[in-house]
Amino acid sequence: MAIRVRQPVVPITEIEHAAFCKTEDQLPAKPLAEELSVNVRWQHLPEQYLHYTAEELDRRIHQARQKLGKSVTILGHHYQREEVIKYADFQGDSFLLSQEAASRPEARYIVFCGVHFMAETACILCAPHQQVILPNITAGCSMADMAPIEDVEDAWEDLQGVLSSHGGIVPITYMNSVARIKALCGRHGGAVCTSSNAGKVLEWAFQQGQRVLFLPDQHLGRNTALKLGIPLEQMVVWNPFRPLGGNTPEQLRQAKMVLWQGHCSVHTRFTVKQIEAARARYPDVTVLVHPECTMEVVQAADQNGSTEYIRKVINEAPAGSKWAVGTEISLVNRLAINNPDKTIFCLDPVICPCSTMYRIHPAYLLWVLEELAAGRVVNQITVPADVRRDAQVALDRMLALR
Ligand code: SF4
Repeated sequence: MAIRVRQPVVPITEIEHAAFCKTEDQLPAKPLAEELSVNVRWQHLPEQYLHYTAEELDRRIHQARQKLGKSVTILGHHYQREEVIKYADFQGDSFLLSQEAASRPEARYIVFCGVHFMAETACILCAPHQQVILPNITAGCSMADMAPIEDVEDAWEDLQGVLSSHGGIVPITYMNSVARIKALCGRHGGAVCTSSNAGKVLEWAFQQGQRVLFLPDQHLGRNTALKLGIPLEQMVVWNPFRPLGGNTPEQLRQAKMVLWQGHCSVHTRFTVKQIEAARARYPDVTVLVHPECTMEVVQAADQNGSTEYIRKVINEAPAGSKWAVGTEISLVNRLAINNPDKTIFCLDPVICPCSTMYRIHPAYLLWVLEELAAGRVVNQITVPADVRRDAQVALDRMLALR
């Protein structure tokens, strides 16, 4: 059994998380130099991009786009700040955006305003002539950072040693993971899931084998398994810093769900106390949270669902309804602006964006567009052919379940 014990490392993305949290006000973008002054470790840009005002950025982005025409498509994830998403040709969750990119073969350049794993997924799904660009190369995801491929490969090897003669284990990874983990799932009979279809994918996985390794978000895995009727006693957490993930061989053999010890630093900020406070303030409020929140929060809420579900439910809700929402603040603010006849607010009174999504400042968008207009491709995201092939298998298994 090959067990390497590593020292726990807090992802830099997680350390930076509070850098832009505020207790009041919105979060208007400042010139990039001011945002960098809080000592974040973002990609370095040529000096002039640090000082452009919002008006200069806006004018130059429009000029660059005009020059590039249909050769470029800008995709914007729902968690992007307003000053960036306003330039997006399409808005959506990570998977929807990747599919959108793939359906636009005329766009040679896909500028993905999101985070690294999303750009990788777009790269897997797009045609070979399309190039995917991430405006700020340091825009990662703290959850994806919690499952480095080396740790996952070690865990997989250990799990085979314990379980291969006891019914095996099926690897399922949430979309929010690096391409190499998706490829590992593809190679070993597993699949990818999103927060919209995690239940369906888990049902499929339990038709393939006795138990599931769920990566990298323990909360989505636990909340989804509970919905399917799997009791907590049949779930264990895999801590990558401990031998056998901190479990005995017997515990692993008894488990139906092995949950990777990862989480989203945005969605785990929500608490049951915040739900109680919202209900005390508005007795008729509906509490709606994302399933990346903890089990306690999901169970205390009235409803839970993916980003697309949250958008749909609130957009279609009757005028006058009240919503306390447990998801990323940029999306909640946008829902509130677009639904002025409803009361919509974030469960967390501290305005705290996803720190990695926030790394896409409009100056980065301008920089990649001006480079493209000058005939240079910068920050291209690529996925090796073998990884792409195997990850595509895991994605296709998910798509076949629709
Ligand atoms: S919201 Fe959470 S899961 Fe999504 S990109 Fe940010 S850190 Fe990652």
